[in-house]
Amino acid sequence: MVVVGNVSSSKLAKTKMAKSVLDAGWFMLKTPLSYKAKGQEVEFLEVNEAYSTQSCSCCGSIPDSSPKGRAGLGVRDWVCSDCGAQHDRDINAARNILNLGFGCKAPVDGIPAL
Ligand SMILES: [Zn+2]
Repeated sequence: MVVVGNVSSSKLAKTKMAKSVLDAGWFMLKTPLSYKAKGQEVEFLEVNEAYSTQSCSCCGSIPDSSPKGRAGLGVRDWVCSDCGAQHDRDINAARNILNLGFGCKAPVDGIPAL
């Protein structure tokens, strides 16, 4: 199973975040990834990734301490003010996206690390 966020590279490219989304080559990655997944009978899911960066992947809340908006883009590590979990920004977002792929909001059991 492969789960990706539904970020639109064409929409983001028109914003001030254009450089980062184009640098990431998101479209160039996502399209062939979906083809490869289908060829291997791997489930490929695209989910709404809104708030995946701001939500705590441990308790599911959007705490005051999570990175928000453009000002929060530089925040790479943060601690959830609700449950105390320490997060790497990208790993936390990846866990939230994976959880959405599994159709749950709670942390996924059996996947302790990415
Ligand atoms: Zn938390």
